Amino acid sequence: MQFVDWFGDGSIVVVDLALACCAVESEFAVPEGAPVLDDVPTGSLPVAIVSGTLTDAVSGLVRDRIQSLGPNVHVVSFGACAAAGGPYWDSYSVTKGVDQLVHVDHYIAGCPPPPSALTSHLESLRSARGSS
Ligand code: SF4
Repeated sequence: MQFVDWFGDGSIVVVDLALACCAVESEFAVPEGAPVLDDVPTGSLPVAIVSGTLTDAVSGLVRDRIQSLGPNVHVVSFGACAAAGGPYWDSYSVTKGVDQLVHVDHYIAGCPPPPSALTSHLESLRSARGSS
């Protein structure tokens, strides 16, 4: 797994579990030139973003990836599909939200949400942790 050192200071490292079209937006939010790391540095807050349509076929893998980040992982549900299945809520193969698998700390609404909504949330998170 690879992590984006979002602010380049080790405060927050992000893994984007990119599943469908919302991932275009979440990937667009990544700051240009942000370092990519192979592990979570000591003292960093790991953030897992679930962006896109979650299906039952991949839900176990998504759950395992998130749980492997430890008990302090901050989970962001990005978009309507990740929150509750979105336009595919009644499909037999679509999981009705990532909260069926793991806890979710923050929901970002939209189909798709704008990249700025993710940027804004991560900046708030960094401020709340005392970094600036
Ligand atoms: S919420 Fe909309 S844009 Fe995002 S993955 Fe679902 S259908 Fe695509």
